[in-house]
Amino acid sequence: MAIYVVGHKNPDTDSITAAIAYADLYSKTKGEAVAVAQGALNPESAFVLEKFGIAAPEVVNAFEGKQIALVDHSDLAQAPDDLAKAELVAIVDHHKLGDVTTPNPIEIWVWPVGCSGTVLKNMYDFYGVEIPKGIAGALCCAILSDTVMFKSVTCTDADKKAAEELAKIAGITDMMALGMDMFKVKSAVEGTPIRDLVFRDYKDFDMSGKKVGIGQLEVVDLSILDGVKAALQEEIGKVKAEGRHSVFLMLTDIMKEGTELLIVSDDPVVVEKAFGVSTSGDPVWLDGVMSRKKQVVPNFEKAFAG
Ligand code: MN
Ligand code: MN
Repeated sequence: MAIYVVGHKNPDTDSITAAIAYADLYSKTKGEAVAVAQGALNPESAFVLEKFGIAAPEVVNAFEGKQIALVDHSDLAQAPDDLAKAELVAIVDHHKLGDVTTPNPIEIWVWPVGCSGTVLKNMYDFYGVEIPKGIAGALCCAILSDTVMFKSVTCTDADKKAAEELAKIAGITDMMALGMDMFKVKSAVEGTPIRDLVFRDYKDFDMSGKKVGIGQLEVVDLSILDGVKAALQEEIGKVKAEGRHSVFLMLTDIMKEGTELLIVSDDPVVVEKAFGVSTSGDPVWLDGVMSRKKQVVPNFEKAFAG
């Protein structure tokens, strides 16, 4: 029976490409594996797969009775809803260890690096398996995406090294130009329904018993979002009304290296507790803040706990 390899809900490029790569590596070292996704490709991921001639993973949301490997997450909130009815056999990730648990020992590769793609590159090396050219290119793009072209505080030397080696395998001559092309695709908002923009890169968290949603849109210039900002604010109000304590939407300018945070919360004072900027719910500018994982989630977790 093939194992299913799946990334988190609202899959990003890392979740998609890590699933593809781990399924490839698994099938060459252990047994049958198939990469799937918990949702459709976002425009950036579609661009990357198309660029390297890789088929999109099938969208699967039911895993009862299946063996499953999680990539790019280990939080139940981001895992398939019926994970408890599946058998977890592996985790490949680069986030804080989540709350999944298993009755049996499993293979776990969780590294404190900027991207699951970096972990996968090192796994291929560990198992002595050659990385297919297309997968190398896709993993390289995932690293450029997750580390915002090496600018994010989450970026490590291991990420840079992996990206350079992957670029060489894939025959990418100008990695940064490819990164800019990718972020331009990611920045495009025209013709996208507002709700899709909110959920394009969105995660729910349990913070001290409160359900908190945090989305992020990364653009090469915040002015791209001028025409949709009011509608985004209104939409996160609706998302909050669906049973959440707070919803935050990070509008991240990757060139200015900062984030405008849209806020809707039962208690906006958590923003002041988290970032030292007072607000009664109006958006705030957070200079130097680009990483949800490292700069936003931990601050909010502390703010909600205290
Ligand atoms: Mn991800
Ligand atoms: Mn990732």
